[in-house]
Amino acid sequence: MSLLPSDEVMTIDDISDRNKYLSQDISPKIIQETNISETLSSKPPLILIVDDDLLIRKILVRYLERENYRVIEAADGMEALEIYQKCYPNVILLDAMMPVLDGFECCLRLQQLPYGNRTPVLMITALEDRESVDRAYEVGASDYVTKPIHWAVLRQRVSHLLDQANLRQQLEAANQQLSVVVQELRRLVSIDGLTQVANRRCLDEYLEQECKRAQREKIPLSLVLCDIDFFKSYNDNYGHQEGDRCLQEIAQAISKSTNRPADLVARYGGEEFAIILPNTGAEGALNVAIRATEVVRSLQLTHDYSKVANHVTISCGVATLLPSQDFDVLHLLKSADLALYLAKAEGRNCVRQGNYVLE
Ligand SMILES: [Mg+2]
Repeated sequence: MSLLPSDEVMTIDDISDRNKYLSQDISPKIIQETNISETLSSKPPLILIVDDDLLIRKILVRYLERENYRVIEAADGMEALEIYQKCYPNVILLDAMMPVLDGFECCLRLQQLPYGNRTPVLMITALEDRESVDRAYEVGASDYVTKPIHWAVLRQRVSHLLDQANLRQQLEAANQQLSVVVQELRRLVSIDGLTQVANRRCLDEYLEQECKRAQREKIPLSLVLCDIDFFKSYNDNYGHQEGDRCLQEIAQAISKSTNRPADLVARYGGEEFAIILPNTGAEGALNVAIRATEVVRSLQLTHDYSKVANHVTISCGVATLLPSQDFDVLHLLKSADLALYLAKAEGRNCVRQGNYVLE
């Protein structure tokens, strides 16, 4: 007598000599711990069969092995959860009615385990009443089959669940790749390609955002505008390549003069840079600007065509928006720009602070 079901429907009645069947030497399955990456590998899918009825379990094992699946078994819900955590099967065939821990409770607990809610569960129930079927879905089962098991139905459902799980994994992997790309794109659209500090677009957005926050939270907001002195002469005499390198070094030097994560250094345009200093008063902003000029000075980038030093220097204009003031971004920019103009007019290589008299 063949041990494999040849009929379309498996029932206990089909096996006339149950004891004879069970006495056959069916070697116990060796449980080997596995990990998720192994489960996702090209090995045949691993199916966990959970049923308290040894006969049904053995028939299912034989049948599914014949279908070229790897199979592992458990006799109740508790055992199933233990094995699940060691082997991470691709699909679980779960009998609804079992001692110790029934299929519904087992499925419910499975959802709380790592990857548990991603592992398809095919509930096997002898009860075809609507309540059991509804409950199976409620506790997280993906589908169900009823006893007696129709082999053609079981085969299709297992295969369908595996396809679904594969598609889901592919989709998740694609989403992950996409989010990396989106993150990189976000970074790229906010970075100035040449100097690697924030670009003008990022500066405008951040300034708008921080201005609103300053007014909402009644905190000061400062802005420093920095301009490289005699940069046109530098470019004209040393060439554009050297000019670009100078911009890169100055940008990095100015970045070094800030030390809080919320401070933002951006290229404002040409040879002008901006430092946004949230929650920073006039004195703090002045210190940052002075530090920026010192760091740039310490680079000692030769500039034989500067009229204020023999190396590259910057001029800075500082403006601060105080909580009591009702100025907007435009006023803050104008104020910093005016201060920068004064720094330029009063000899360059220096820092001037805006006095908010704008009208
Ligand atoms: Mg049962």
